[in-house]
Amino acid sequence: MTLIREDDVIASVADALQYISYYHTPDFIRAMGRAYTLEQSPSARDAIAQILTNSRLCAEGHRPICQDTGIVVVFVRVGMDVQWSATRTLEAMINEGVRRAYLHPDNKLRASIVADPAFKRGNTRDNTPAVIHTELVTGGQVDITVAAKGGGSENKSKFAMLNPSDSIADWVLEVVPEMGAGWCPPGMLGVGIGGSAEKAMLLAKQSLMEPIDIVDLRQRGPSTPLEALRLEIYERVNALGIGAQGLGGLTTVLDVKVLDYPTHAASLPVAVIPNCAATRHVHFTLDGSGPARLTAPDLALWPKVHWTPDVSSRRVNLDRLTPAEVQSWKPGERLLLSGKLLTGRDAAHKRICALLESGQELPPGLDFHGRVIYYVGPVDPVGEEIVGPAGPTTANRMDRFTDTMLERAGLLAMVGKAERGPETVAAIAKHRSAYLIAVGGAAFLVSNAIRASRVVAFPELGMEAVYEFEVHDMPVTVAVSAAGESVHETGPAAWRGKFAGIPVAVE
Ligand code: SF4
Repeated sequence: MTLIREDDVIASVADALQYISYYHTPDFIRAMGRAYTLEQSPSARDAIAQILTNSRLCAEGHRPICQDTGIVVVFVRVGMDVQWSATRTLEAMINEGVRRAYLHPDNKLRASIVADPAFKRGNTRDNTPAVIHTELVTGGQVDITVAAKGGGSENKSKFAMLNPSDSIADWVLEVVPEMGAGWCPPGMLGVGIGGSAEKAMLLAKQSLMEPIDIVDLRQRGPSTPLEALRLEIYERVNALGIGAQGLGGLTTVLDVKVLDYPTHAASLPVAVIPNCAATRHVHFTLDGSGPARLTAPDLALWPKVHWTPDVSSRRVNLDRLTPAEVQSWKPGERLLLSGKLLTGRDAAHKRICALLESGQELPPGLDFHGRVIYYVGPVDPVGEEIVGPAGPTTANRMDRFTDTMLERAGLLAMVGKAERGPETVAAIAKHRSAYLIAVGGAAFLVSNAIRASRVVAFPELGMEAVYEFEVHDMPVTVAVSAAGESVHETGPAAWRGKFAGIPVAVE
């Protein structure tokens, strides 16, 4: 019998969550480095450079890779020869580890979990509870895989009950374009096949915990039908040309993972779950000898990519921004923003639009006329920081408010991530506004551009409050121009089909 102590579980889970908040896995760094080397689309290459530079800065500074520090998902395999020295349940031990990790004073992580999801949606404030999957296995160890899954990528999960004769690859190829860029590609796709509806989803999530090895598979060739399916999906998805951040490019997925399970003769359940530029997971084993010891990755692993503001980008002074200047921005143009911008996301938009639509005044000091809004919910600062990691959130959640913000609030332009819906693109064109994107998965790098921050309205909303940020050379790309041209349409169209024939590997 192996004795597993409660304190070891708690300390190991807490350490693991801190660890994955700032370290990408070595396989992910190598794969992203390879994607950077191979990429020929300038916009996508710039986005990957930001992701890699951000990744290294986070590893050095022990600060989160992304402002969305995720929902915690834990897979536990408990050996049946294990005995517990514990007063808490396994679930309570894991949740205590989550609590300690997210409230760690040196690297406080953003608490994103809300209870009563259908109604009150109150933040639990310590990111608990985790989603825990437990399995009993033979042996005298406890194997734990801890992941922190971003909401943007989780929101793009898909499931279908196919007919047994349907093509799984064709279905995946149908749903990936529907996911848009809100899952912050390049990343991975996890595919679960078989079992029942919930089993297929679980398999898809579990498959994302495996290391990236598609280059090896491409080199040696598939030896099973599932490996052939992985390769087929990998090549066909990359041939779609979606590219980094949906800007159009060669690499949309770094790998495709597939797990399967026997199913009913009448059924073919299939699930696909993407994992984003902030792919975060770590695996460890408890054998009774104490808490897990996680080794820091060697910084030499990171490719020598050091993104700095591109001097050929157009510099924009936000404090003197005019409608005429906004209208002169070209789709795909890279800008460096300096000056003051306002922030806001779902909860603030809901309140602002409710006030405007009922003819009421906005809170004192909150005036969007001639201003730019940044869709962001930053991590709390630590030490000398002005603000913690502060990358963009998915913009289309703000689509239903955009016409009101442009028409009644007087907003000039917006910054977020991923594509806007067709009605919002039309509203942007109608108001001669523009929509800019920052790189999702480069949150610490973006926060380095923020020189001052103050709360302007709704402080009770925490990270969802409206802040005023003063930024210097904040990198963004024009995603929808005043003429209504969207790079999320034109970029992938230009790069469609170009992945075929690119070399297998570059190290
Ligand atoms: S990289 Fe994108 S999808 Fe992933 S956690 Fe960050 S914002 Fe969310």
